[in-house]
Amino acid sequence: MTTMESLIGLVNRIQRACTVLGDYGGDSALPTLWEALPSVAVVGGQSSGKSSVLESIVGRDFLPRGSGIVTRRPLVLQLHKTEEGLQEYAEFLHLPKRRFTDFSMVRKEIQDETDRMTGRTKQISPVPIHLSIYSPNVVNLTLIDLPGLTKVAVEGQPESIVQDIENMVRSYIEKPNCIILAISPANQDIATSDAMKLSREVDPTGERTFGVLTKLDLMDKGTNALDVLEGRSYRLLHPWVGIVNRSQADINKNVDMIAARRREREFFATSPDYGHLSSKMGSEYLAKLLSKHLEAVIRARIPSITSLINKSIDELEGELDHLGRPIAIDAGAQLYTILELCRAFDRIFKEHLEGGRPGGDRIYGVFDNQLPSALRKLPFDRHLSLQNVRKVISEADGYQPHLIAPEQGYRRLIDSSLNYFRGPAEASVDAVHFVLKELVRRSIGETKELRRFPTLQAELAAASNEALERFREDSKKTTLRLVEMESSYLTVDFFRKLPQEVEKGGNPSASAADRYGEGHFRRIGSNVSQYVAMVSETLKNSIPKAVVHCQVREAKRSLLDHFYTQVGKKEGKQLSQLLDEDPALMERRQQCAKRLELYKSARDEIDSVSWSR
Ligand code: GDP
Ligand code: MG
Repeated sequence: MTTMESLIGLVNRIQRACTVLGDYGGDSALPTLWEALPSVAVVGGQSSGKSSVLESIVGRDFLPRGSGIVTRRPLVLQLHKTEEGLQEYAEFLHLPKRRFTDFSMVRKEIQDETDRMTGRTKQISPVPIHLSIYSPNVVNLTLIDLPGLTKVAVEGQPESIVQDIENMVRSYIEKPNCIILAISPANQDIATSDAMKLSREVDPTGERTFGVLTKLDLMDKGTNALDVLEGRSYRLLHPWVGIVNRSQADINKNVDMIAARRREREFFATSPDYGHLSSKMGSEYLAKLLSKHLEAVIRARIPSITSLINKSIDELEGELDHLGRPIAIDAGAQLYTILELCRAFDRIFKEHLEGGRPGGDRIYGVFDNQLPSALRKLPFDRHLSLQNVRKVISEADGYQPHLIAPEQGYRRLIDSSLNYFRGPAEASVDAVHFVLKELVRRSIGETKELRRFPTLQAELAAASNEALERFREDSKKTTLRLVEMESSYLTVDFFRKLPQEVEKGGNPSASAADRYGEGHFRRIGSNVSQYVAMVSETLKNSIPKAVVHCQVREAKRSLLDHFYTQVGKKEGKQLSQLLDEDPALMERRQQCAKRLELYKSARDEIDSVSWSR
């Protein structure tokens, strides 16, 4: 048999765990257990008697009183029935292990704790204060005291307070699992009751609303509240309960709770109006009614709570897997993690180069399109124009024109032509450099494991780019050297095979005249142009070899070599800095872990109750 104590006790324990682990329901982006648990919230206008009803259900004076809005934070009040004869005490969740036996100190602590959160500004806060009362004289029950509904802000309060309070109260009582204790004073028209107005709004069928009518003793002589109490003026699913609390005069005279309860019983027993209802009136009856109802609600909810818990555990574990588990703290494990992450990145980078992932083909594009078209566009036509050839050849000879072949002129023309190849050579190096850089950037983005570690990402990117920069320098030197080599030694065979001008002319005098004529320079231009075309063909093939050798092959082989050496020299603290995560992500992981802990402990609690059946 599951007893009432164990069921309500179960919910009490889960609720405590919720508060400890930061689940107040509501706006957090995490699954909430709090909202699935049944609770009882006290709702009513200011001075309707909420504090008095709560106190008489508990049987102790402990709630702050005063004019204005005294209750500015929700108070979650858990009543735990203890064995007869044990001393009563109260305990706050924010002050664990401190037992309050003096209930006036409880009142003071509620005030102080309210101020700690809200300042003395009379602001309100939705973060609840958790108070447990252990006593032989209570029934197991969780009650939530909420700020009283008001109609106007008073001195020092912001204008928004009326709406703020209503919103906060609504946020509690609109939860389908909230049992509403709607308090209205009997000496006011029930039609104007704030409590009824708000509870009807959130619970139109009245299935979770308990109507409580206070101040029955303050009604005008000759009138009674039977129309309300018997459900005629305001129909609710559950019966109305009438209450007589202590008056202000009683409180001033320190009338104690025991005496007050006796007086309340007598009031109903001897009342000509309410005598026939007396067994169903008064705060003791209300407490039992609530407790029984709560038990039934919990019993009915347990299967769905259990499945909610299991579902949420799955969800949270899934998310934690996705976020990645926390990183080890010892330096060895951290170094290992860093190297693993680097390798994962390096693998992806290589796939981009070698195939499997796109991007490597763009390097071939540089060699196949960009370089040949740059070579084609070199301005040799202009450089080897008749006019320029004549100019260069003539200038090369100085005051004494060449006698046989214009050796100097040829050399100058060829040298100055070959110089043009530097441009396409450097451009190829740069183009491949940018492809590689882009592939690094993409590979870092595609390394899922790295996503948590923005610092390491940045360091890896910096180290890779530095390495690529070094490869670029080296590649530039090598390709330019290829160009320089072409001008340092010309292919002699080419010139030997050229038809000899003298023979070609046939007539020596004609050829001598031709030596300084147009045809002569045109032939020179055409010869140089052919030579340059041959070199261009050679470079078109050799520049890609140099670029791949110096940049692509090195990127594949030793992109992170420098980085590894640096990481190897780092100490514990520097290593953990590399593994710094995005603070938002760490926060989220921590929240998920905490919430997971809550659900697991709730599951254990429920298991233990089910087993004791
Ligand atoms: P709250 O603002 O809703 O918490 O109302 P309180 O419980 O502080 O009560 C406001 C005032 O009404 C106090 O002076 C109480 O003594 C008085 N009061 C509350 N209930 C009753 C009642 O049933 N009868 C009488 N005579 N006075 C009551
Ligand atoms: Mg009050």
